[in-house]
Amino acid sequence: MACVSFPYDAPDAPVSQTLFDRASLVTPGGVNSPVRAFRAVGGTPRFMVSGAGPYLTDADGREYVDLVCSWGPMILGHSHPDVLAAVQEAVARGTSFGTPGEGEVALAEEIVARVEPVEQVRLVSSGTEATMSAIRLARGFTGRTKIVKFAGCYHGHVDALLVAAGSGLATFGLPDTPGVTGAQAGDTIVLPYNDLEAVRAAFAAQPGEIACVITEASPGNMGVVPPLDGFNAGLKEICAADGALYISDEVMTGFRTSKAGWFGIDGVRPDLMTFGKVMGGGFPAAAFGGRADVMAHLAPVGPVYQAGTLSGNPVATAAGLAQLRLLDDAAYAKVDAVSAEIRGLVSRALDKEGVAHTVQAASNMFSVFFTDGPVRDYDDAKQQEAFRFTAFFHSMLAQGVYLPPSAFESWFVSTAHDSRAVERIAAALPAAARAASEATA
Ligand code: PLP
Repeated sequence: MACVSFPYDAPDAPVSQTLFDRASLVTPGGVNSPVRAFRAVGGTPRFMVSGAGPYLTDADGREYVDLVCSWGPMILGHSHPDVLAAVQEAVARGTSFGTPGEGEVALAEEIVARVEPVEQVRLVSSGTEATMSAIRLARGFTGRTKIVKFAGCYHGHVDALLVAAGSGLATFGLPDTPGVTGAQAGDTIVLPYNDLEAVRAAFAAQPGEIACVITEASPGNMGVVPPLDGFNAGLKEICAADGALYISDEVMTGFRTSKAGWFGIDGVRPDLMTFGKVMGGGFPAAAFGGRADVMAHLAPVGPVYQAGTLSGNPVATAAGLAQLRLLDDAAYAKVDAVSAEIRGLVSRALDKEGVAHTVQAASNMFSVFFTDGPVRDYDDAKQQEAFRFTAFFHSMLAQGVYLPPSAFESWFVSTAHDSRAVERIAAALPAAARAASEATA
């Protein structure tokens, strides 16, 4: 039956509880993605029925200020009228053709125009597919097998990348996952994040064997842990010197942290990049792209196979394109400003209650670690007092603010987070900070 942990029961969410009981009978853990479960914080996941602007409404009719934004995509808030209109217009023409269509061309052109290192791009349906395909392409292009990833970075549930991964694996404290064979993970070298010396040592130990380094452009899956100055540039340099490819995973940061994602901030040119989340406007659309000479190795022009029945789906591309076209400099300035305001409010409330914490940001993405900072890698992130987050989370939830149900995730805001939404967050913070200060392990 339902997994409900004392003391965070949901007496005020009977409909969510009933739905969760039904879901738990037919779906493992009652959820279709582990990060949606409340296992790390206890209690019953809220089943949402609608979203409008910065708000979500659950099946019990309770409204929440949403600080998850579907884990990043909803940067314009929920149900933006222009995105909905584009979707309705596309749906009216049919939902999938299995042929090329103009929407895919327009979305690819928009990505290429925004992100300078992307000369060519291939559309897929999820970030997982994007990173999986980018790695296959890197191996096919270089003729090498080994790959480097960093502890605490999450790149989707690709077998070879589920080693020391962040996101749900960090939330649930899983080092690896059964079902991934030694053959699939054996060529993955896991290194500590922000440690260029470790990267140099790995390349020195196996020269000419590493196909690529894949890194989150600015990690958000162990909480927000930005790269130290020169880290991404150092990765690029080490890769270039050895003939390996530098893959920047911008599934989370892409089109969120700036018009050109994290590349627009640090300017380090990756060989390949991956995208998802914001570019789909709330629909399953993702992409990988980069150097034209590397992309030329993909089928049908090259030998590296990659495909997808729903890749470039007309409804998803219409939603993504509509969203990207609304994301101009003014929109990013707005999201950045509201993020800074909320970060300040959270920090002041926790300071007032004497709760040790550090708020880390990568443009408008941010997270709150319940430990003195700075948090520079996954080991630092694991030092936090996650039990304080649990108390904080439930107090905010009870007061109508929806946070990611894990201390190891980024919080997300949107252009729709207006002063009313911010006031509701501000009103909830004192009690939540008190709950965090009084929490015991
Ligand atoms: N890469 C990064 C950096 C992500 O944050 C995620 C998902 O959170 C993925 C890849 C996987 O994307 P998806 O969940 O669409 O498969």
